[in-house]
Parts: sequence; C-alpha cells; structure tokens
Amino acid sequence: MSEITLGILGGGQLGSMLSVAAKKINIKTIIYCDDREAPAQSFCDEFFYARYDDKEKILNFAKKVDIITYEFENIPFKTLNELNQLKTVLPKPSVNRLIQHRLAEKDFVNKLNIRTTRYVHIQNKEDLLPLEDFLPGILKTTTMGYDGKGQYPIKNINEIETLNIDFSKEYILEKLVKLKKEISVIITRFGNNKYEIYEPIENTHQDQILRHSKIPAEISKKIFDQSKEWAIMIAEELKYIGTLCVEFFIDRNDNLYVNEIAPRVHNSGHLTINAYNVSQFENHVRAVCSLGQIPIKKLYNAEMLNLIGNQIIPYRENPNLSNNQFLFDYLKKDIKEKRKMGHLTILK
Ligand code: ADP
Ligand code: MG
Repeated sequence: MSEITLGILGGGQLGSMLSVAAKKINIKTIIYCDDREAPAQSFCDEFFYARYDDKEKILNFAKKVDIITYEFENIPFKTLNELNQLKTVLPKPSVNRLIQHRLAEKDFVNKLNIRTTRYVHIQNKEDLLPLEDFLPGILKTTTMGYDGKGQYPIKNINEIETLNIDFSKEYILEKLVKLKKEISVIITRFGNNKYEIYEPIENTHQDQILRHSKIPAEISKKIFDQSKEWAIMIAEELKYIGTLCVEFFIDRNDNLYVNEIAPRVHNSGHLTINAYNVSQFENHVRAVCSLGQIPIKKLYNAEMLNLIGNQIIPYRENPNLSNNQFLFDYLKKDIKEKRKMGHLTILK
C-alpha cells in the first residue's frame, strides 16, 4: 500500500479522472479548487474549497500532500511558485507559465524549428489595421483562453470596428489554416528520454469545442511519425514530467502545424481509459509520483463523443449502453450551453 498523497489544483472533470486513476493505484488525492461546486469533489479523498490566493488555505493544503500537480493551466503562476517552495509541483511552474501564454508558447515551438500557424502580437486596435495579410484569421487572448473562449474570428479589416474587442487584454492574431484535419498526441514523460507516447488521435471540433475523437487517426505515415517526433521534442525540451498533449492542425496540402500545447491530461485522451492498458491519467499520476513506468499497449481502437450541454440528458434518463460503450457523467449540477457535461467512449 502506497503512502503517497497527491494534491491536485483544479476540480473539473480532469481532476475527477485523475483522482479515479490515482485511487486505482492506491494514491490518495486532495483537490484544491476555487469553485464550490467543483465536480471532482465527488471523486477525490478530500476537497479544499478556497481561492488560489488564500495563503492560509494553500499552506494547509501543502502540509497535507506529498506532491502537487494541476489539472488546468490557468492556475496563477504565483500560486504554483509559492506552493513549489513547500512541496514539489509537477509539471514545473515555469513550464506552466510558458504555455499559459500563447505568444511565449508559439515562440518556444518555433525555436525548435517546429511549424506553427503564422501569428503576430496585438496590443491595440492600430496593430491590427496593417495586417490584411493575416486574414481571414482568429484573434485570441494571449492568456486564459480555453474551448474557444476569448477568440474572435475576423474575415476582413472592416469587421474590426463591429467586433467590440476588449483591448485592455493582449492578443495574438493567427492566420486561419485551411484545415483538413486536427489531431493530438499525448505523451507522458518520466525523465530523460523516458516516456510513453500514445498514437495520434483524430479530433473534430464544433464551435471551437472538441466534439469527437478517434483512434486510429486517418493520417499518412509521414504525419503519424512527424507528430510523435515533434511531441517528443517538445516534452524533452521542457524537461517535462507528467502527461502533456500537443494539438496539431493538418492543412489541405498535408502540412503539419502545432496548434497548442496543453501541460496536462487532455480531453482527446479520455479514450485511453478504456482503449489502453494504462490511461493518460494513470500515467500522469505515475510520472509525478515517481512510480514505475509500465509500457503502454493499445487494447482496442476507440471513439469518444463529448456530451455538451443538453446532450447529457438522454444518457442520464436512459443510458441503455451496449457492452463496448462507456458513459462518463461528470456530475455537474447545472447544464449549460457549451459546457462539457460528460463523454461516451465506444470501443471498436
Ligand atoms: P483553445 O485554447 O480554446 O482550445 P485553440 O487555439 O485550440 O483554442 O482553438 C480551438 C479550435 O479552433 C481549434 O481546435 C480549431 O478547430 C479552431 N482554430 C483555432 N485556431 C485556428 C487557426 N489558426 N486555423 C484554423 N482553425 C483554428
Ligand atoms: Mg485547443
């Protein structure tokens, strides 16, 4: 029986699935979250509800855990850094600070000679005016964005007046890629050149929110190899410990681009729970808690369908699943439009 207690910052569904995976390998979890309704409180061993800048609560939390990780990237850097003085925080806070910021993130990827979309830093309205060349494009806040939040698609310069963009924030403007496909690669790094990497996952988005994922991805051998190679390069350069996801675009000419990096377990990897011997969640827990590495093996091909907003209702009322289908209800009380309420995995 292990004596490790893992602290997790953030209490969404990723925190729930990390807690379930930890429990399976006898690791206790304590979740700290600033949302009283955090769904992960139903799955962890202990729950702290407090603000991320509540020094006293943070100190109490740190005292109770052996190691700390996080399940979403928008935790204040200050909190991660302060915690790291008390107990080890993994992935390292500096990694999170880099990836939290879209401009720093993209500069980092380009320095590795890995292709990204074309982008420019935008600090005020005037910066946008000479940038016709980047349109159609998407204006994205440099920080705090997820599931398409903080994004403005812009087709032409004239739209800028009507969009009501909040210029108290900073942005990047990204040229729109003519997408053929989106894929993601999930990798868990345990130490120097020690990692487990899952095969590329093919993803479909609706309104900038992930809707569907599947393995195998229908991609060429070249894209299959290059996406894995780039994910390894990124994880190695960051000296990352834990599970990381790289999201990619493939354009109509079969060029691969890194879209973004998630320094955490990822929605597209939910199918690893049922399709692999070791899930992305268990691997994350194993890596941050310095447990042994188990070679991963795919057991099934699979598909995952996100249940967004009202889509959860029929499954709550009458799940009626066959034995290759697995329903995950995140147990969120309020059903909201665009809110991820659960997912369904179908093994093939
Ligand atoms: P988030 O942090 O909200 O996940 P992303 O940058 O990943 O933001 O954008 C969400 C989705 O929007 C992408 O998965 C893709 O479908 C679409 N998208 C974003 N940027 C571009 C782009 N430059 N070209 C084409 N599609 C894009
Ligand atoms: Mg994304």
